[in-house]
Amino acid sequence: MIRDDVDSIRLGSYPVLQLIKNPAFKWLFKDLIRHVNKKRRLELLIEKYIGENGKKMSIRNYFYYFIIIVVIRIAEVISKSKENNLKASLKVRHIRILFIRSLALIYESIEEFGLPKKMLRWKSPFAVVWEISHKCNLKCKHCSAATRRIDERELNTDEAKRVIDQLAEAGVCLLLFSGGEPLLREDFFELCSHAVDKGLAIGLASNGTLITKEIAKRLKKIGFYSIQISLDGATAETHDSFRSVPGSFDKAIEGIKNCIEQEIEISVAPTITNSNCEELEEIIYLAKRIGAVGVNIYNFIPTGNGKLNSECDVGFEKRQIYLNLMHKIKEEMAGKIRISSATTMEGFRVLIENEGKSLVKVLEFFGGCPAGRAYCAIEPNGDIYPCVFMPIAVGNLRSHSLNDIWHESGVLKELRDRELLKGGCAKCDVKYACGGCRSMAYAYYNDYLESDPTCPYNKGSECGFQHSVCTSKRDISICQRQRFGKGKH
Ligand code: SF4
Ligand code: SF4
Repeated sequence: MIRDDVDSIRLGSYPVLQLIKNPAFKWLFKDLIRHVNKKRRLELLIEKYIGENGKKMSIRNYFYYFIIIVVIRIAEVISKSKENNLKASLKVRHIRILFIRSLALIYESIEEFGLPKKMLRWKSPFAVVWEISHKCNLKCKHCSAATRRIDERELNTDEAKRVIDQLAEAGVCLLLFSGGEPLLREDFFELCSHAVDKGLAIGLASNGTLITKEIAKRLKKIGFYSIQISLDGATAETHDSFRSVPGSFDKAIEGIKNCIEQEIEISVAPTITNSNCEELEEIIYLAKRIGAVGVNIYNFIPTGNGKLNSECDVGFEKRQIYLNLMHKIKEEMAGKIRISSATTMEGFRVLIENEGKSLVKVLEFFGGCPAGRAYCAIEPNGDIYPCVFMPIAVGNLRSHSLNDIWHESGVLKELRDRELLKGGCAKCDVKYACGGCRSMAYAYYNDYLESDPTCPYNKGSECGFQHSVCTSKRDISICQRQRFGKGKH
């Protein structure tokens, strides 16, 4: 048992968050994040601090500037960090923007919905992944976008820019361009530049094959600080067979190197399948060797093309082997390369087991799986999905605002309520900190509230594989019970 006092843990008992209830603090903070001349006051002050704002300040701004310097010095002493470490970090636009926008969004969310006992209710998504086009030069076996038709009603440049305006206005912090292969969209750089002008932090998920030296230079110039590049094998043989195009491994490696040459941080993103799970360790070492800063591991989720390639699914037992391996390498490589996973939510549980209760409050505050809570995805035609791997259109940006969809969608409301979870996840004592991968539940059970079937804690639990996934009309092509040796329904 990790915790025996779940109900007594209340994030609201954090002294720093109690400050938010203080009227004087509230007034000061609100004034600090207020827009002054198109930027938030805090942004102008930080620009002054890092030497990028030479303009004369008002007396009011001097007052705030003094407070900020004092807070920074105290933070540096407490954290024993070297003087100017923070200054160096804040000089990076991406970090600065994320810091300022997330502070503002968290504050505004608490102001609108109150200080939560557990999961923060976000006023707007913190991050948005935008599949700007389904066009792609590869044919990956797992691709969630590949079976979606190339949409003739793809948002055009003007519409796309209006969407970016909406995101910026709503307070979204991070816009990640994805696809298909986003670089195939002709107005890609125009849209990126518009997003930067509107004050958003931007990221990119690419297959890397089109990132020549020239393109890498443009990406750097436009403001990409970090990019995620898919790599599904430690050898060309494994990677190319999964991506179904010979030569894609070499081109991806070249793309990675071109980005690193431009000092763009690279995270390598393998999707773990039957054909590469034994190469996981080698993929991580390869990533380290070529200079990537991180490896973001994806579970194979049977959606899109993945549904047609169910043999890629590693199955329960094998998945546990690579998850354990992932946690082991993560410990061994701490400080050398970041190892994370956007889809294996049970990692939160492992983290809690290792780090103890103090972390629970923070994890519960942010709430684990962010689908439909802190993040959503946009399709090329403007449809909003709770997650790129969960093809449920909860609204379209051509006919509705992001704000309306975010607050009115019944699906999103359900995803924000952990009391509605079913099976093992419903009974789990870390469901607020983790919540399971909702897309996994949807892919396997056609029910986003079901248990995450990949979690080791769900093995043999009621949620397990009791569902008649093979005989029902559920949208899944494989019988999970049979696969995991539990016999047919
Ligand atoms: S049972 Fe569900 S909520 Fe609990 S750790 Fe596993 S995936 Fe997370
Ligand atoms: S449903 Fe949640 S955990 Fe799964 S991929 Fe989406 S955001 Fe990640």
